[in-house]
Amino acid sequence: MTFKGAFDNLHHWLAFKCPYCKSREVFLQGYQGYHSDEQYAYHLCNRCRETSVLVNDRLIKTGRS
Ligand SMILES: [Zn+2]
Repeated sequence: MTFKGAFDNLHHWLAFKCPYCKSREVFLQGYQGYHSDEQYAYHLCNRCRETSVLVNDRLIKTGRS
């Protein structure tokens, strides 16, 4: 792994928080369209079991619950 790669991973990790409970225990659930044909990465929180979606490097609420 390069230094650049390590930094990108760190940034990714820092921005990676559950929008509901702020837990970092979120896992990639799958990809699907969200209000458009674009594919978004859905994540499931291991703590509160809520689903969030990755938009512009941030996890946001899906508004499903
Ligand atoms: Zn959560």
